[in-house]
Amino acid sequence: MTINLGTANEFIARHIGPRSADEQAMLASLGFDSLEAMTAAVIPDSIKGTSVLGSEDGQSEADALAALKAIAGKNQLFKNYIGQGYYNTHTPAPILRNLLENPAWYTAYTPYQPEISQGRLEALLNFQTLVSDLTGLPIANASLLDEATAAAEAMTFCKRLSKNKASHAFFVSQHCHPQTLDVLRTRAEPLGIDIVVGDETELSDVSAFFGALLQYPASNGEVYDYRELVQRFHAANALVAVAADLLALTLLTAPGEFGADVAIGSAQRFGVPLGFGGPHAAYFATRDAFKRDMPGRLVGVSIDRFGKTALRLAMQTREQHIRREKATSNICTAQVLLANIASMFAVYHGPEGLKRIALRTHNLTSILAAGLERLGLKVLGETAFDTLTLATGTATAELHDKARAQRINLRQIDAEHLGLSLDETSTQADVEGLWQLFGAGQVQPDFAALAASTASRLPAALLRQSAILEHPVFNRYHSETELMRYLRRLADKDLALDRSMIPLGSCTMKLNAASEMIPVTWAEFGNLHPFAPAEQSQGYLQMTTELEAMLCAATGYDAVSLQPNAGSQGEYAGLLAIRAYHRSRGEAHRDICLIPSSAHGTNPATAHMAGMRVVVTACDARGNVDVEDLRAKAIEHRERLAAIMITYPSTHGVFEEAIGEICAIIHDNGGQVYIDGANMNAMVGLCAPGKFGGDVSHLNLHKTFCIPHGGGGPGVGPIGVKSHLAPFLPGHAQLENTGGAVCAAPFGSASILPITWMYIRMMGGAGLKRASQMAILNANYIARRLEEHYPVLYSGGNGLVAHECILDLRPLKDTSGISVDDVAKRLIDFGFHAPTMSFPVAGTLMIEPTESESKEELDRFCDAMIRIREEIRAVETGSLDKDDNPLKNAPHTAAELVGEWSHGYSREQAVYPLPSLVEGKYWPPVGRVDNVFGDRNLVCACPSIESYQDV
Ligand SMILES: *Cc1c(COP(=O)(O)O)cnc(C)c1O
Repeated sequence: MTINLGTANEFIARHIGPRSADEQAMLASLGFDSLEAMTAAVIPDSIKGTSVLGSEDGQSEADALAALKAIAGKNQLFKNYIGQGYYNTHTPAPILRNLLENPAWYTAYTPYQPEISQGRLEALLNFQTLVSDLTGLPIANASLLDEATAAAEAMTFCKRLSKNKASHAFFVSQHCHPQTLDVLRTRAEPLGIDIVVGDETELSDVSAFFGALLQYPASNGEVYDYRELVQRFHAANALVAVAADLLALTLLTAPGEFGADVAIGSAQRFGVPLGFGGPHAAYFATRDAFKRDMPGRLVGVSIDRFGKTALRLAMQTREQHIRREKATSNICTAQVLLANIASMFAVYHGPEGLKRIALRTHNLTSILAAGLERLGLKVLGETAFDTLTLATGTATAELHDKARAQRINLRQIDAEHLGLSLDETSTQADVEGLWQLFGAGQVQPDFAALAASTASRLPAALLRQSAILEHPVFNRYHSETELMRYLRRLADKDLALDRSMIPLGSCTMKLNAASEMIPVTWAEFGNLHPFAPAEQSQGYLQMTTELEAMLCAATGYDAVSLQPNAGSQGEYAGLLAIRAYHRSRGEAHRDICLIPSSAHGTNPATAHMAGMRVVVTACDARGNVDVEDLRAKAIEHRERLAAIMITYPSTHGVFEEAIGEICAIIHDNGGQVYIDGANMNAMVGLCAPGKFGGDVSHLNLHKTFCIPHGGGGPGVGPIGVKSHLAPFLPGHAQLENTGGAVCAAPFGSASILPITWMYIRMMGGAGLKRASQMAILNANYIARRLEEHYPVLYSGGNGLVAHECILDLRPLKDTSGISVDDVAKRLIDFGFHAPTMSFPVAGTLMIEPTESESKEELDRFCDAMIRIREEIRAVETGSLDKDDNPLKNAPHTAAELVGEWSHGYSREQAVYPLPSLVEGKYWPPVGRVDNVFGDRNLVCACPSIESYQDV
């Protein structure tokens, strides 16, 4: 007899919320006796069976972690002096543990519901204040994706705002980081912008340009004085953007102080691990006059219902959600978690601590340079902050070899030059080690003697005179106890997945399992420089290659690029691939992009960035693409049709039957099909876009594939393509592909890819398919429970929805005056984050429960929604006042309870509308936030502490 050890995979049942008895009950409520029967009913026949995913079981958590650890072990951690925009840093341990590794921070959503987001909004406001202070520019956003894409945003920003309207030429200093230049070239070409690269120190005539990008300190390490040049650009009506290093700015005159219109850069070295290139937060700062054209999200100060200071996202009308193809950029998911790490790094170190780090780094650099000169090396330039370029001539290759033999990486510049960057982690021993390397066999310089005699290499004329970070927040949390409690206090203000479900349609807020998160902070993944020689990143290579294969299997595509670092960037990379494909066939004139009216706002914004013209097609009364309108427009534009961008299942939460026909119409008229894969959580293992007509799709790994949202980023937006588009996938100086780079690092946000690898490895084909089925079951269960209380706006011909459902609240507005906003805010009193509001249809709520939520949690949510419906009914019948009722006044704060109570309903009804809430109640820290007030009185940096006092 053999002993049955049972299945070792515990993970599938841990990831999926409902137990099997719950599953049967839920299926029964829908009239099915099995998941397979439900699946057969929901997936249209035309796409059934297209999945190519295997049916194997996944690996256990322990086994998958062990397998990934072995892969990670193939990465080699050399000592890095490569620099070039990426520097070693010490992530302060309390920030690592209490923020980066803390689900209260990493599982939060973008702070669109400000009342439950005050903690992360405050952390982001600190980030904005930090950036604004250091750059000397009054308005800074709450992060962009990386330095190179921020530079591209600065370029188009200058184009929009420059008074030199006739010019299409953008000057880019040859002293910018090479990866920035590559991304600028990619982004400029479809827009007809000419990038003119040159040496700004020799630039005589600047009249031809609408704008310029300079780097400060320059990529070669020198600190150029740009004051006069900026004036010349301004005299010629050009705007100037400066890519600046935040650490250097603690010691150097701020770009805003020497006239720059925009400052951009990376906040990586403020405590965010290298991570083989990302994710890191980029920043963007500008003048007050330009704030309405700022790309990305901006946190602003406003007041709540009681007049108390409260934060929220400001000026959202600039965003793609509202302005679509006229948006200032297509940025949606940004880098909130990383911005918060950088912001807390500054909070913890404070102004003196930051200056100390900068000065130490700089002094070591000056001493290093002096010693190298003494050893007979030629250090280029007189000035430096932390980076030196050495003219090493014919010895260059040999020096690299020698360095590598000592497990040291130097920056490879060209055959005759190499570079060295020091950072926060550098020590006297490192400097002495470099002298040994470069001056082997010679008498070594004496560190102490040189330290005593070496002058600073910072140019005296550019030393910073202004103070930095005087706000109390940067001056009061310098002990670990204080910082720990500050982080806890902020986290306690917020609702994240660690407290309750976040039923945001389209956003797929599912479990981010701890086993998936653990590898992210392994040194083998965290401490690798993106430009380290390939032989050192073999672990990454294996992991990314395997992940690409996994994602091909999940989607039915032939090739995948992991480079795009958000869905929006995947859309962009995908449209560029389509564009390049048409060009390769002599059809460069194809530039029309059809987009159904229900599309996510990033789609039209992206099409515009890719140089395409958007033609909107209609949807029918059931929420489906109007096939006849689509056919008519495809035929009308057949000579110039480039693509369609279509989301599947639709943003209306329905598996459209006609998807096969829609793809055929586009192909018949010479176009390519871009399927927005944000809703892939309904499809993995059930059907495959690469097999039912898609030519390219992006996936949101931060939706379907378990990367946490981080409060608004990081994300990863890889694209899958059919083989004919594979040659046009994004390239990189570091990669073999020939397409242009869409972000700074070859693998974008590489260090969070292990999350998805772990998820897929642990679920296996069988688990992934089951996850999709359960996501659909959970959504249909909610739709069924709520439909008698709120109409479900759309469903398929079979009466079923896909993985999300839209509740129509518009009729209630007429009968009760209660708006979708009121319901969203009332849900906070029940301890829930609101569903997606007014997307894709105004006046509705879109609910996506995901497979990770248990039946208990779904029922708790449905009970809250039903109780809210009863309250609305009380307003309808007049038993609750139409203005003074728990919905209009929601959310209710604790402070309100202890004051005088003048409402026509009880305190109990206000805060404990269900008895179950007495235990584990979430108390919002502020009342309903006034958006209009904040937009009229725009304040985007930390207000004085006094203004936080209650009035
Ligand atoms: C989330 C989403 C996007 C954008 O993805 P980001 O990662 O936020 O840039 C695009 N389309 C749809 C349908 C989405 O839900």
